Amino acid sequence: MLAAADRALVEALVQRSPSGILVTDPEGKIRIVNESLAQMIPLVPDPIGRLPIQGMPIESLADALDPERDDELEFTHRSGNKDLFIRVVPLSSNAPDAEELKGARLAIVEDITRLRKEEKYRREFVANVSHEMRTPATSIAGYAETLLEEREALDGWVVDMVEVIFRNAKRLTDIFEDLLVLARIEAAEGKLPLEPLPLLPRVNEAIDRMKSLADDKQVQFQSFVTSDLRVQANREALGHVIGNLVSNAVKYSYQGGVVTVRAQARDEGILLEVIDLGIGIEPRHHDRVFERFFRVDKGRARMAGGTGLGLAIVKRMVHAMGGAIDVRSRPEKGSVFRVLLRPATPVLN
Ligand code: ADP
Repeated sequence: MLAAADRALVEALVQRSPSGILVTDPEGKIRIVNESLAQMIPLVPDPIGRLPIQGMPIESLADALDPERDDELEFTHRSGNKDLFIRVVPLSSNAPDAEELKGARLAIVEDITRLRKEEKYRREFVANVSHEMRTPATSIAGYAETLLEEREALDGWVVDMVEVIFRNAKRLTDIFEDLLVLARIEAAEGKLPLEPLPLLPRVNEAIDRMKSLADDKQVQFQSFVTSDLRVQANREALGHVIGNLVSNAVKYSYQGGVVTVRAQARDEGILLEVIDLGIGIEPRHHDRVFERFFRVDKGRARMAGGTGLGLAIVKRMVHAMGGAIDVRSRPEKGSVFRVLLRPATPVLN
């Protein structure tokens, strides 16, 4: 038990906490709310002793405080002009004297409005810079390419230099292009308009686009995707995701390799796998390859023409379509990128 002085301290701590705090008792009734919470969420005048749904207008929070639950959850909610980050945990533990707290729950609410705004400014800044830089970079790449078309008229050492200029200008335009796509997908805040789409045409397009690079490396394609598979997806994002995974599979294949695209309906959704027998990825890097600008081998990736943003974009797009992505891979054996997509929901008449 707490000494009386400590109780006053705990009371002050709860009330003065900059985070919003709401506690429900084992019957699911509101027992404690602090001042910060009252500033973030509109409450009825006397909320203590009421059920959450009677005390405040956020249904998702009321659901999360149900005394029948014993899970931990996190979610965001927009309340008026405030963005809130809400974390709900059970108050009971496995300790024997915690039994009387069974069903009691604690919600901690943070006001993330400023954070969100700063994120938005950062995104807009990156998008604006990328946009401004893309135009001159495209122009440099364009002129360099035109010069290279006239290579017979140029000295060998000039051609060498112009090739370097072209390669680097192209790299810059690719990076700015990817940064713009990333900014756009981040601005969509995890949601994209979805529609029922067949998978096969997107797979075929991706394979067609990589044909010439695959031919150069004598890489063969295998596709096991049937025409009946339909996913709930965003057309542009789906094309981008499959295109990028197939492109990586070819880029990181050995000469004479095989790239397989396979899809099947599972209970959890439609599973799409892009499989290569290439250089593979060490297990410690499996999560990191989805980070911005992470490359296992910078030199090799640069030679292969990568920006290091491809998989970061892919992951965000997959999430924005309600899906999931992971990788299984072993060095020098190859990689399997697995994307779980939602099956198409039939259109109701
Ligand atoms: P990049 O444009 O450099 O390919 P990505 O974001 O697409 O960037 O991939 C990040 C890194 O993940 C790559 O640089 C590479 O090291 C690794 N990677 C991606 N796909 C594969 C693959 N199929 N096989 C081996 N490594 C891969």
